[in-house]
Amino acid sequence: MRLQFFGAARTVTGSKHLLTLDSGKKILLDCGMFQGRGKDTFTKNSQFPFTPGEVDYIVLSHAHIDHSGVLPKLVKEGFRGNIYCTSGTADLCEIMLLDSAHIQVSDAEFINKRRKEEGKDTIEPLYTVEDVYKTLPLFKEISYNHEFKIDDEASVTFTDAGHILGSAVVNLKIKEGNQIKKLAFTGDIGRYINKVLRVPQPFPQADFIICEGTYGDRKHDTIATMETKLQQVVEETCLIKKGKLIVPAFSIGKTQELVFCLNKLNFEGKLPKIKVYVDSPLAINATEIMKRHSECFSPETLEFMKKDPDPFGFNGLEYVRDKEASQAINRRDEPCIIISASGMANAGRIRHHLRNEIGNPRNSVLIIGFAEGGSLADRIARGDKYVPIFGQDHGVKADVYKTDFFSAHADYEELTRFLTCQNPDLVKKLFLVHGNEEVLLNFKDKLLLEGYRSIQVPREEEEFRV
Ligand SMILES: [Zn+2]
Repeated sequence: MRLQFFGAARTVTGSKHLLTLDSGKKILLDCGMFQGRGKDTFTKNSQFPFTPGEVDYIVLSHAHIDHSGVLPKLVKEGFRGNIYCTSGTADLCEIMLLDSAHIQVSDAEFINKRRKEEGKDTIEPLYTVEDVYKTLPLFKEISYNHEFKIDDEASVTFTDAGHILGSAVVNLKIKEGNQIKKLAFTGDIGRYINKVLRVPQPFPQADFIICEGTYGDRKHDTIATMETKLQQVVEETCLIKKGKLIVPAFSIGKTQELVFCLNKLNFEGKLPKIKVYVDSPLAINATEIMKRHSECFSPETLEFMKKDPDPFGFNGLEYVRDKEASQAINRRDEPCIIISASGMANAGRIRHHLRNEIGNPRNSVLIIGFAEGGSLADRIARGDKYVPIFGQDHGVKADVYKTDFFSAHADYEELTRFLTCQNPDLVKKLFLVHGNEEVLLNFKDKLLLEGYRSIQVPREEEEFRV
């Protein structure tokens, strides 16, 4: 069979890897969107480098948009097969793809306004809500650790990757002639820390591995638990300075981990009696889905839930869905915590909160996630004295804290630990994807020391025989 890389090759987004069996069958691993502000991003997302109607089926590692985001576009262009994934991934994809469709439509409207003024042809959105509704029935849910026979040529087993709800390592067994070839695609790999979800689980020995390497050259904070750091920031901001703590957070994953952490502090009597707002409709929907999937929770979370059955709710915590209630938070002048999206602070309600609060030295901003260079969260994190919000410069007087504790991605030590379930002598080829070029080449050097002999860092569209 042949394996070709059409995204996340020496870059971090657009995950799409195409397997073509000798029989001609085509299996697509992930169907992710290219993200970022590069000029060619829209073009890369609007044309597939293969024929969508020729793909027989898709196996999806997890719901993040850079892994699932152009599925509705693929369906719009003729894909009719099944999309195999875990139940958590299917549930999250529903809300994430619908949210993405709204963004695609409003982005196209914005671009078309300018194009009309310039006398140019208008563009179509990548996809619409209708395309998402045509995609959702194609999802087929498979539980973790259960070998599912897709057809006479292929079976799949999902093992937990510990990255976000539903995230999985895709373990494929492909029958070609008399041979069974085992290919593992890690998707994104989570951290070995105390969190709501399970840590990454070992996966069966594979002949070929496609492994992510986002932080293949990085070591995360070494703090033992987030609770201690969070308690300190909350006390300094809300008790000593009597200010507001603003936290830009991704709606899915980070918001729930943060709420879980605050819930624990509250349960132990360590959280001051202040209001905590989760101001993001998507985060509220994601939290509801998270509650339904306790099969993905860590043993520690399940143990904690024996004492506190609702780990995402406590006295003082308020989920804010409507716009009016969101605006009302800005008018309240009392210590509180505001968690809002987006995580990079480039869009969403968080910008209103930052505009109102960032100029006040009583307040603090806590950056807990990855922020693309030049994004508002990145500018705040790197200590810019002035930041542009809604086209106007605002002086940063609030204190700024940052931590990468909540990163959903393993660092190089954790990635290496994750791979210790494999015997390197039995791995014929290891492909490194989902990382910047320099990072992946660096990670490759580290893994050569672990005994892996054939490590490839594929380029966009590069093809290998496996
Ligand atoms: Zn991911």
